Amino acid sequence: MSYDEFYVKSVIRSLPDWPEPGVLFRDITPIFKDPRALRMVADAFIHRYVDTGITHIACIDARGFLFGSILAHQLNLPLVLVRKKGKLPGDTIHQEYKLEYGSAAVEMQSDSVGAGDRVLLFDDLIATGGTILAACTLIKKLGAEVVEAAALIDLPDLKGSALIQEAGVPVYTLLAYE
Ligand code: AMP
Repeated sequence: MSYDEFYVKSVIRSLPDWPEPGVLFRDITPIFKDPRALRMVADAFIHRYVDTGITHIACIDARGFLFGSILAHQLNLPLVLVRKKGKLPGDTIHQEYKLEYGSAAVEMQSDSVGAGDRVLLFDDLIATGGTILAACTLIKKLGAEVVEAAALIDLPDLKGSALIQEAGVPVYTLLAYE
């Protein structure tokens, strides 16, 4: 099914002032209620990453998991999780990052990727880029390479995708909201 940006955008819901005043929240959950939109989005990413030498897909808590597991299944690749602090059992490493107010942290299991692995990092949306940059730090600490950071949505005005690219990680997103 060929990708139709207009259609996918018509399915994504935009909620002003959620979860706090001033944020325009881009809700991707309706995509999962619309098999046509989901297939378009999934197929676009599968087409991009098939036969590219990627060895692992790392996906970010929690909406990144939804797409990540589809891609891992379709591309027949291992899936590893980047989770919010305190959710993963066993040996983990963690990385803090700044939010507008305060800080947050992401974690990975220490044996999830390693030297020689070529990782595709996936989340639903890139805003300030803090989450993806923290995840890149974890993947690199484990000795692996982030081949590309991908997301369904970019918010380029927040300059996150530019920051990630400046850090040497290519970025690919399907659509943007200026
Ligand atoms: P950031 O670290 O600033 O790039 O934020 C990215 C993370 O926050 C992603 O996991 C998104 O799910 C979530 N996020 C940030 N801003 C929005 C927004 N306007 N709409 C939906 N999700 C958002």
